[in-house]
Amino acid sequence: MSKPILLVGGTVLVHDQDDHPIPCEKDVVIEGDVITKIEEKVNVELYPDATVIDCKNKIISPGFIDTHHHLWQTQLTGRHGDDSLVDYMATGNLTAFFFTPEDIFWGQLGGALQALNGGTTTVADHAHMNYSGEHTNRATDATIASGIRSVFCYTPTPLVASWDHNGPALNWDILADWVIPYFSELSRKLKVHPLLSLGLAFDGYALVPPHITKSLFETARSLDCQIITTHYARNLLLGEPPSVVKTLYDLDLLSKDCVISHATDATQEDIAMLKEKGASVSCTPVLELQMGLGSPMVCKPELTGNTSLGCDSHSVVRGSMLDQMRAALSNGRGEQVRLLRAAGKFPMQMKPSVEDIFNLATIHGARALGMQNKIGRIDVGLKADIVIWGTTSPSMVCAAIHDPVAAIVTQAGTHDAECVIVGGNIRKNGGRLMATIGKSDSLDSVAQGVNQLSLTSHMGDGKEFEHAVEPTGIEWELVAEKLVKSRAEIESRIAETGYDAKEARTEFMAGFGFDATCLEV
Ligand SMILES: [Zn+2]
Repeated sequence: MSKPILLVGGTVLVHDQDDHPIPCEKDVVIEGDVITKIEEKVNVELYPDATVIDCKNKIISPGFIDTHHHLWQTQLTGRHGDDSLVDYMATGNLTAFFFTPEDIFWGQLGGALQALNGGTTTVADHAHMNYSGEHTNRATDATIASGIRSVFCYTPTPLVASWDHNGPALNWDILADWVIPYFSELSRKLKVHPLLSLGLAFDGYALVPPHITKSLFETARSLDCQIITTHYARNLLLGEPPSVVKTLYDLDLLSKDCVISHATDATQEDIAMLKEKGASVSCTPVLELQMGLGSPMVCKPELTGNTSLGCDSHSVVRGSMLDQMRAALSNGRGEQVRLLRAAGKFPMQMKPSVEDIFNLATIHGARALGMQNKIGRIDVGLKADIVIWGTTSPSMVCAAIHDPVAAIVTQAGTHDAECVIVGGNIRKNGGRLMATIGKSDSLDSVAQGVNQLSLTSHMGDGKEFEHAVEPTGIEWELVAEKLVKSRAEIESRIAETGYDAKEARTEFMAGFGFDATCLEV
């Protein structure tokens, strides 16, 4: 078992029974992967082997919970600055075809580390890059190596069968013979790991008959999937109806384990069905506003209690929950002012509050994932998923003294997340990220080391997770070097096809149910 960790002398944000995060001057004791004490003055001498972290002038908060993200996409970062959803599909999402399993490993590791860097300790990963079992294996290897907590949502999805100068040819058979057996095997493998759990991500309602959708959901629930997640955005491109929410409701599949990503411009009927069944919406306001998905539902009074936050594609926006929190705050307050103005009023106090937003990224995220008894708050018996924030940077100084919650929500940068702890393991310290990978002497042998590590990860008997090789750390600079190399190789493979995705962006839109007639020309 790892050494205890003592967080001494900091300001701890402890949620009370009414969900208010209360700043408390207390020490925190972490033993194993859980919080075992929160006391005014812990006797350090009782823990002679402990790692003691001086938290004077620091804020100790729960880690953020990102309920919608595609962690594999790091090599695509930067190419979608002005893209709408149309170009993202052609030049981003579908280019997973050009990723080898090793490219997936580095992309996934980069995405997970970027999330940790900003204080995210749990992510619901909508993993739609499953070209083969080996691609998925390498994605889970990378997730393990990063040390993030993840609901890995396996995704049966249309895959590119071939890609030449005429463009991609898609295979619309999303449930090939190997998919369900692999999904079941993945369930068995993930059960042995303390930080990973299985989920299902599905968007193929137009591609399979309803009874197949029902069967798939039943399989997922029989495998104890933590969540079932699905994209849904109402806009002209995606047409209307059908409503994904109504489709699930009519099939009697909508339930509290469902996380609907976006639900932009959801109808009142959608909202009523979501509320009735206790399903939740993962709002990703930065991306939703940036790519034309529609009006974010975050902070809509009708959905209070049923929303959380996600980053979605860090190839498009930064994989930082701080960005999402600020966008949620601005979008929610803009909506409040718009509604009040229509009624001839001016706000007395701004809504949503910074506390509302902080809770979206913490306790409401945990509830969306059905993990509220494990994560989302700092409390005795809960998992030690914690961020230690500095309070003296140019943006945090003074603000953190006056109101720690407001300081995090309105002022903090990723550099202020000085220390990030997941399940009792320190994953960022002194501002430095660390991935835990099998022992190796050089970057070129790192991937091989991870292979050994993951083999043991996946071959356990369900009782205890053990490492085949003694884990060792690699620092971010080495991951960055590998990512740059991987990106160049992917770009080269794309260029070899001679295909201009932007020129022919609408060719395959119909297959995804996109309405090309609505496009601005
Ligand atoms: Zn998404």
